Amino acid sequence: MQKVVVAQATNENILIPLRERAEVVVISNNDASALQAACADAECLQVGTWIKITEEFLAECPRLKVISRTGVGVDNVDVEAASRRGILVLNTPQANTLSVAEHTMALILALAKQLMVLDAHTRAGDFEIRRKNLPVDLDGKTLGLIGFGSIGRLAAQKANAAFGMRILAYDPFVRQAEAYVHLAADYSEVVANSDFVSIHLPLLPETRNLFNAEMIAQMKKDAFLINTSRGGIVDEQALCSALESGALGGAALDVFESEPPKTDSPLMRAPNLIMTPHAAALTKECVLRVAQTAAEGIADYLDGKRPRFIYNAKALGL
Ligand code: NAD
Repeated sequence: MQKVVVAQATNENILIPLRERAEVVVISNNDASALQAACADAECLQVGTWIKITEEFLAECPRLKVISRTGVGVDNVDVEAASRRGILVLNTPQANTLSVAEHTMALILALAKQLMVLDAHTRAGDFEIRRKNLPVDLDGKTLGLIGFGSIGRLAAQKANAAFGMRILAYDPFVRQAEAYVHLAADYSEVVANSDFVSIHLPLLPETRNLFNAEMIAQMKKDAFLINTSRGGIVDEQALCSALESGALGGAALDVFESEPPKTDSPLMRAPNLIMTPHAAALTKECVLRVAQTAAEGIADYLDGKRPRFIYNAKALGL
């Protein structure tokens, strides 16, 4: 019987189709050494973002044939090393789109309406904050999207339909968009002309530190920066400097260079910064959707079928 290791089970029902096909071992509590040991004789691994699946990890898993990621970004998996070993890397590209787009809108609204600031002052008895720290309306404002894939597109649709925002987007691989979207020629056009800039990119060598001091300096002084994509795309030091000097209106981060961010990180003291703990896709509904899609990919493999979402299909010549 083949063996499936599931790191962080979310719902026993989701494991039923796997238990019908294989021996299933669940590793909980983010126990890296237990996960490594369990994978030593496993064919399939279902995993989230809490552990890096490195070449060294894979070297200890001679039978591994499938790594199924519960999410879209696979940057915690050494995909090249997996491909060299003929391992299928699966992901769940559409399962978390809705939740991340909604989280993006929540952050945009919280920044625009200054919810965190107003809440803190109201609790402290400073009711007069309402006249000193005026929020802004979204209607007619420009939302600039960097990366116009599934999440960027859905956020654009919601921002435009529900809040009357104008949409400006840059994605070098997108040539066509809906009528309400203006596709920009480059990053600068978006960054310099938007009231809200929201990042929806994969973390790649070319996107690492893309939002450095120079890029942030191109933003309007009262604009807001939102990153729900991956830590490492925004230079956190440069962001904190811009927030502290008033060169930027505010920011919201769901993802960080190091997760969790260090307690002595300048992020902890930066003004007008909202942070959420890489939680955009962790809604009650979304954790089930991604776990189900990831498990379906493994079940397909065990049935000898082609899984729906093979991230490294090209590298494997499939
Ligand atoms: P997607 O693949 O549908 O879209 C990514 C887009 O980025 C693509 O359209 C691609 O053409 C574009 N792109 C690639 N390189 C680019 C570059 N250098 N400049 C501009 N655009 C570029 O992915 P998605 O589902 O929209 O997700 C976007 C990112 O969000 C993922 O890569 C993932 O890392 C992150 N994510 C985060 C969470 C979370 O919990 N916070 C959840 C899901 C996804």
